Amino acid sequence: MRLPEGAAFILERLKSHGYASYVVGGCVRDALMGLEPKDFDVCTSALPDQMQAVFADCRVIETGLKHGTLTVLYDHVPYEVTTFRVDGAYTDHRHPDGVTFVSDVTADLSRRDFTVNAMAWNPETGLVDAFGGQEDLNRKLIRCVGDPETRFGEDALRILRALRFAAVYGFAIEEKTAAAIHDLKGTLKDVAAERIRVELAKLLCGRAAEDILRRYSDVIFTLMPPLSPMLGFDQRTPYHRYDVWEHTIRALAAAPATETLRLTMLLHDSGKPDSFTLDENGVGHAHGHPKRSAEIARDVLTQLRVDNATLDRVLLLVANHDYPLTPDRRIILRRLNRFGEEVLRQLIEVHRADGMGKGTVSEELVEDWAQTMRRALDTVLAEKPCFTLKDLAVNGSDLLTAGIPKGKAVGQCLQCLLEQVIDGKLPNDREALLSAAPGCLE
Ligand code: ATP
Ligand code: MG
Repeated sequence: MRLPEGAAFILERLKSHGYASYVVGGCVRDALMGLEPKDFDVCTSALPDQMQAVFADCRVIETGLKHGTLTVLYDHVPYEVTTFRVDGAYTDHRHPDGVTFVSDVTADLSRRDFTVNAMAWNPETGLVDAFGGQEDLNRKLIRCVGDPETRFGEDALRILRALRFAAVYGFAIEEKTAAAIHDLKGTLKDVAAERIRVELAKLLCGRAAEDILRRYSDVIFTLMPPLSPMLGFDQRTPYHRYDVWEHTIRALAAAPATETLRLTMLLHDSGKPDSFTLDENGVGHAHGHPKRSAEIARDVLTQLRVDNATLDRVLLLVANHDYPLTPDRRIILRRLNRFGEEVLRQLIEVHRADGMGKGTVSEELVEDWAQTMRRALDTVLAEKPCFTLKDLAVNGSDLLTAGIPKGKAVGQCLQCLLEQVIDGKLPNDREALLSAAPGCLE
């Protein structure tokens, strides 16, 4: 295992003062999988005040010291250094009542959630793997350290973390761990929404998210009860091959792996069951469902305490997920006017993902459509076209000077001129716009 300079320095420094020290957790797991670790955490036998003495000449942050964590900055990179510890009793399914510092790395590893996360390493000792983490990595298995019911009982967030790691790495969940997840999912209600949101976002962006959402839909519906009517909901339409939930998870998996787009796809059809009608031919319709989906999305995401910027964007995308898009210059300019470039690009991805999830249109056709749409948008934007009021070659005061009466008329007139420019009926040219302006008020 190759350590970055900072981690090597910290291990060496602790060793030279007579303390045991290892890199631990996610970095060991990722390195063994041949992945580049995101960050390196260190665990050590040094007690908090001993760590402070060892790193007295370094820049440190002391925020976690009560729980044994000192953050050491090396070359501006933060490293979390934590005293070996075991957690006290968990009476609230959330946090330990207290922590106890211990001298043995194996005891520290035993408090960690999954075997693949419970390995430590240093250059002298090599790998410390007391719970079969390496074997589970090879078998691609997420398994609790110790008894799953007990471990999920201590901290219910681990239920969602198991799904997250399985989704991100494409691992299966060991049988007893899986059974405990289904049994104890109800205790997730005790976990802080902010912690759930972080794990859920990673889960949804995982490469095996589709499979996890299919197998563990009950857990997702525990977190988001208004989504449960989607499961098994028959759409009775030639446009859809799958029920609403199966369509949803396929569409989600086809979307780019960002939190915003994956949440959008998770929620885009949530209003379908409520909006469903059957016509006289026995064909199903869900008129107006995007609006209902956006209402459900607002409830669900507010519960999860998603930040306002993400919330607003997801609601906009959900509400407009079937807004017509065609690779036609005039339509693109109108959509640019309505949504702006960033949102329009996201809507193209949403349409693409939605199409991929239908099971009635060939994936190739959907992909071609998306390519054509992206290119048409690029072409239109390359002309630096006028599609907002601020791009227009005249402004309000120009119109006043030209004799348009003060007040509402000015705004109406600008909007009317912009529409004519977008539709190619007028050039975006000052003289032309000023002479056309009075016509807008007729
Ligand atoms: P990532 O690469 O996403 O950061 P990670 O494994 O580093 O994954 P973290 O949430 O950063 O995950 O946690 C670091 C380590 O702390 C984990 O590898 C695990 O050993 C332990 N850990 C984290 N959260 C829990 C928990 N809720 N219960 C038990 N152990 C945990
Ligand atoms: Mg980490």
